[in-house]
Amino acid sequence: MNENQLSKRLERVGALIPVGSRLADIGSDHAYLPVALMLQGKLEFAVAGEVVKGPYESAVSQVRKSGLTEKIVVRLADGLDAVEKEDQITAVSICGMGGILIRDILEKGRKANRINGNERLILQPNVGEKGLRSWLMLHDYTILAEDILEENQKIYEIIVAEKGTSFHDYTEDELLFGPVLLQKKGEIFLKKWSREVKQREYVLKQLENSKTDQQEKIAELKQEIKQIREVL
Ligand code: SAM
Repeated sequence: MNENQLSKRLERVGALIPVGSRLADIGSDHAYLPVALMLQGKLEFAVAGEVVKGPYESAVSQVRKSGLTEKIVVRLADGLDAVEKEDQITAVSICGMGGILIRDILEKGRKANRINGNERLILQPNVGEKGLRSWLMLHDYTILAEDILEENQKIYEIIVAEKGTSFHDYTEDELLFGPVLLQKKGEIFLKKWSREVKQREYVLKQLENSKTDQQEKIAELKQEIKQIREVL
């Protein structure tokens, strides 16, 4: 992967970022996403935010090497602290992290008024999608689009949300599987959840053979397996 050739995962994220956006890419690492989209002429302006010095420096040098220092600002900051009011950000991407970390970044940013709810959120959690969707619902976001893809034997989900005018009370199934992904039930979706059910069944067997009391965990797993089986 480089600034000209994004991974399939980031390419699919990029396809969900509106043309002409003023993007804040949080946890930008090499700033590959904003640099590639800027080189494709898709962005008006971008902030690449990074909390760790090494990836921050990689992002700085990538932006410089690409001749984009006028168009992409790289900031060493925790989460949405990288965003300033005058940036007039219209889209926020947070990719390649756990869903709970993404949720915590959004919550902290919301409380600190770094986002005002008018931004489109393009989120790519590696795990913990349900907790992230629950946060979105709690804060009146509508899930507009979702995508799922496989790359190097890993399956990734992408969630696009905006604050809607109407409230969406997502069901337990929609929170776990994704409202859009659940509607489509595509090939990769079915592959992911077949894998997930097998993993849970394996853990369940181990727990059932355990000498300690695992009844609570066993009941929880059985419920999850039932929920997944009903969708498959
Ligand atoms: N977004 C890129 C992608 O999807 O390929 C990089 C993903 S990389 C696995 C996660 C990056 O997020 C790391 O560079 C890490 O330092 C950064 N990160 C983690 N927590 C962060 C936070 N609170 N604020 C900003 N960056 C963060």
